Amino acid sequence: MNNQDLLQRSHAAVWHPCTQMKWHESFPIIPIQRGEGVWLYDYDGRRYLDGVSSWWVNLFGHLNPRIVAALHAQLGQLEHVMLAGFTHEPVVRLSERLSALTKRRLGHCFYGSDGASATEMALKMSAHFWRNQGQPAKTGFIALANSYHGETMGALGVTDVPLFREAYAPLIKNSVILPSPDSRLGADAARFSLEALQRHLQGHHEQTAALIVEPLIQAAAGMVFHDAEFLHQAHRLCQEYSVHLIADEIAVGFGRTGTFFAHEQAALTPDFLCLSKGITGGFLPLSLVMTTDEVYQAFYDDQFGRGFLHSHSYTGNTLACSAAMAVLDIFEEDRVIEVNRSRQSHFAVATAALRAHPAVLNFRQRGMIWAFEVACERADFSRAFHQAALRHELLLRPIGTTVYFMPPYTISDAEFQHLVDATLGSLDICLPES
Ligand SMILES: *Cc1c(COP(=O)(O)O)cnc(C)c1O
Repeated sequence: MNNQDLLQRSHAAVWHPCTQMKWHESFPIIPIQRGEGVWLYDYDGRRYLDGVSSWWVNLFGHLNPRIVAALHAQLGQLEHVMLAGFTHEPVVRLSERLSALTKRRLGHCFYGSDGASATEMALKMSAHFWRNQGQPAKTGFIALANSYHGETMGALGVTDVPLFREAYAPLIKNSVILPSPDSRLGADAARFSLEALQRHLQGHHEQTAALIVEPLIQAAAGMVFHDAEFLHQAHRLCQEYSVHLIADEIAVGFGRTGTFFAHEQAALTPDFLCLSKGITGGFLPLSLVMTTDEVYQAFYDDQFGRGFLHSHSYTGNTLACSAAMAVLDIFEEDRVIEVNRSRQSHFAVATAALRAHPAVLNFRQRGMIWAFEVACERADFSRAFHQAALRHELLLRPIGTTVYFMPPYTISDAEFQHLVDATLGSLDICLPES
C-alpha cells in the first residue's frame, strides 16, 4: 500500500464527510498509516502535527498507551451488550464519575453514539418533559446565530450555518435564532442577545421548550467567544420563564476552555448537558446527555409512553465507556486541568510572533483553544492555507478566514513551537507575490 494507490481507491469507494469530492481531483486526500502522540504519518514517510485533534476529539495524543491498555483489558471481558434491560460495569462507573464531576446535580446519563444524536436526545427529552408535565405546547427551541449543534435533521433545526441547512430547508423544523453574543463585536452584542431572549421569552415562553447554547465558545462558527456572564444571564432568564437550558459541550467539554466543563465558569447548572468528541480521547464514538433529578422523575411512571423511548443500537457501548474511563483517569492522575493552566504563560510567549503578525486579527485564547482571523485577499484562503500548512508538516483546517489551534493536551513545548512556526510560514500564502 502507498499514498497514491490508497488515495485513488478512497476517492472511488469512500464518500468523505463535509467535502465536495470533485475538489479532490486537484487536491489529494491524505492517506494516514499510523499515529503517535500529536503526529500523524502517511505511507510515504511524511508526518503532520494534528493541530485540530482530528476534528476536536483527540485529547491525549494518537494511540495513547493508557487508553490502549484500558481497551485491551476490556476486550478480555466484554465488547458490547445492549443497554435495554442490561447493564455493565463501565457504563455504571462512567455515569457515576461524570455525575460526580457535576457535583451530582446532573445525576442521570443517557447515551448515544455521536454528537448530533446527543443534541437530538436533549431536544426530545426537553419537549417530552413539558408534555409529561401537562404543557404539550412547549415544543419550540431557541438557538444563537451561527450556532452548530450537529447535522441530523433535528440538530440542523437548531444549527444556524446556512451552507449546511440550505439544501434541506424544506425538511427542517425551524427554531428561533437570537443574535450572537460574539465578543469581537463588543459588550453590546451580549446585551442585544439577552434583550432579544427576554423579548422572545416574554411573548412565547408557553410555546418554548429550551434554549440551546455552546457555552463560552461557538466552535464551528469560527471559535466565536462570549463571556461567562452572558451565559449566566441567559440561564437566569430561562429559569424566570420556565424554559430549559441545554448546554452543548460536545466541543468545549473535557477541559477545552480551562475548566472541566465550560458552564462551570458561568456558575450555573444546565438542565441538559451534551457531551461527545473528547470523551473517549478520540478512540471510539460515544455521546451522552446528562440531566437533573427533576427531568428524570418526570419520565418515571407506570405508563410506558411517559418514558423516554429513544434508543440507538450502540447505546452505552462497553468499549467506548472503558475508553472514556481511561480518559477520566488521565485527567485525575495527570492533574490535566491544572497543568494546562500552568502552561499558559509559556504558550503566550510562544504565540507572541503570531499576535504581532500584520495579517493576524482578533487573536484570542481560552483554555486550550487559540484562534484568529487572517486579513488575506485570497478567496481560496481556507484551502490554500490548509495545503500550505500540510507542506509545513501541520494539519490545520481554517473555518473561512479563521485559523484556530485545538491540539491534543499532550503537545510538548517543542511541538507547540512547531505549530506556531508552521502557521507563520503558511501565512506567506497571503503575501502579494505568492
Ligand atoms: C461536533 C459538534 C456536534 C456534532 O457532533 P457529531 O459527533 O459530529 O455529530 C454538536 N455540537 C457541537 C457543539 C459540536 O462541536
